[in-house]
Amino acid sequence: MGEELTQIYGRMGLSPAVIAIGKKTEEKLRDRFREIDERAEYNQMKVLKAMQDCRVNAGHFAPSSGYGYNDDGRDTLEQVYARTFHCEDALVRAQLTCGTHALHVALSAILRPGDELLSPVGKPYDTLEEVIGIRESAGSLKEFGISYRQVDLLPDGSFDYDGIRAAIGPNTRMATIQRYKGYASRPTLSVARIGELIRFMKEIKPDLICMVDNCYGEFVETIEPTDVGADMIVGSLIKNLGGGLAPIGGYIAGRKELIDRCAYRLTSPGLGKEVGASLGINQTFYQGFFLAPVVVAGALKAAIFAACIFEELGFPVLPDGTVSRHDIIQAVELQSPERLIAFCEGIQAAAPVDSYVRPEPWAMPGYDSDVIMAAGAFVQGSSIELSADGPLRPPYTVFFQGGLTWYHGKFGILTALQKMSEKGLVTLPET
Ligand SMILES: *Cc1c(COP(=O)(O)O)cnc(C)c1O
Repeated sequence: MGEELTQIYGRMGLSPAVIAIGKKTEEKLRDRFREIDERAEYNQMKVLKAMQDCRVNAGHFAPSSGYGYNDDGRDTLEQVYARTFHCEDALVRAQLTCGTHALHVALSAILRPGDELLSPVGKPYDTLEEVIGIRESAGSLKEFGISYRQVDLLPDGSFDYDGIRAAIGPNTRMATIQRYKGYASRPTLSVARIGELIRFMKEIKPDLICMVDNCYGEFVETIEPTDVGADMIVGSLIKNLGGGLAPIGGYIAGRKELIDRCAYRLTSPGLGKEVGASLGINQTFYQGFFLAPVVVAGALKAAIFAACIFEELGFPVLPDGTVSRHDIIQAVELQSPERLIAFCEGIQAAAPVDSYVRPEPWAMPGYDSDVIMAAGAFVQGSSIELSADGPLRPPYTVFFQGGLTWYHGKFGILTALQKMSEKGLVTLPET
C-alpha cells in the first residue's frame, strides 16, 4: 500500500496491524476481484445496450404529475429493464414502496380464491409470512381463500424433488422461489439451480407460474432467473438495482400478460400501467440502474474481503471465502455479544452519515431477542449501502452487506476489526 494511503488510514483510526491485514487480504483476493470486475463489465454492457436500444434521451428525465398519462420516461425505463432481463415487460415504480410490497402485488395479481401457492425452497422471507398468511394478518392471501404449501430443502441443501412433485396439485397456480437464503441456513440459489427447479416443475405442470424473489441477487451473475424460465422476477430498488441512488421503489419484470395483471393490481383494473406519475424520479432510477453493476461488484468484494479476514481469524463464516457467490450478504459467527456489538459500532463509525452515533441493541418488533443494527445510509434502510445487523443470541452472527463503493466497504470492515481489537475481543497477528 502506498505511503499516503497508509497515512490517511492511520488518521482515520486504523492501527498498523489492521492496515496490514487489509493489505494482505486484498492481495490474496486479486484474482477473485478480477472475476467480479469482469462480470460487472459484462452487466454494465447489458444495461448500456438496453439503454441505447431503447433510445434513452434527456426528455425521459422530465417529471410527470397527476395521473401521469404518457410518461414516456417511465415507460421507456420499464422497457430498459425488460430488455436487460430478456423478458417482455416490466413494472418499475416509486409506487411500489418496497420489496415486500412488490412481492405482494405480484402474488395477489395472479392468485385467485381457491388457488394454491407453493414455495419449493422452504420458508420465505419473514415479511412474506404475513403477506401469505403463514402468520395471521389482516388482508393476507389466506384471508382471500388462497392456500399455501411449502416443501423444504433436503438436509444437504438439494431440492426435494419427490416432495415437490407430490405438492403440485390441480390448484397449484403459482410457485414462489426465493433466490437469497435470508435468515435461513441454506445456501443462496444460483441462477442455474433456479433454472433446474423451474424446468422440473414445468414438466409436471406447464402452466405453473414461477415467480422468483430476486432480492440481493441482481447482477451478481451474468444471467438472471428470467434467462432460465422464470415467468416473473421481483425485487426492491433500495437494494441492488437502485444502484444506491433510488430513494424508493420496486420492480417486477417478466411476461407481458403477467406484468399487465400486476399493473392492474398496483393501480386499478382498466388503468394498469397508464397511470402512476413519476414526479421527477426517473433520472435517479435510470442513473441508479446504470451504476448498479458496479455498485453490486463493490458490495461483493466487501463481502468476500470480510469472509477472508474473519475466516483467517478463526470465525465461522457463511459463505466461506472461496465459494462462488450468489448474493451480496456475508454472515460471520462472532460468538460473543461483545464482538457483535463492537463489529456494528465499527460499521457505524465508518459511515458517511451518522458516523458519530453508537448503535445499541433493542427489542425490535417481530424478533424474539434484541437486535443490533448499524447503518449510516443516505437512503433510510437501504441495504445496498454499507450496513450490518444481527440478533443478540448465540452464535451471535452478524449479517453484513452493501457498500456503495468497494473502498467504503473495505474501510467499514477494517474499522469493525479495529473496534474489536481495541476492546481486546480479537487477537491480530503480529506485523
Ligand atoms: C429484503 C427482502 C425482501 C423484502 O424487501 P423489503 O424492501 O425489505 O420490503 C423480500 N425478500 C427477500 C429475499 C429480501 O432480501
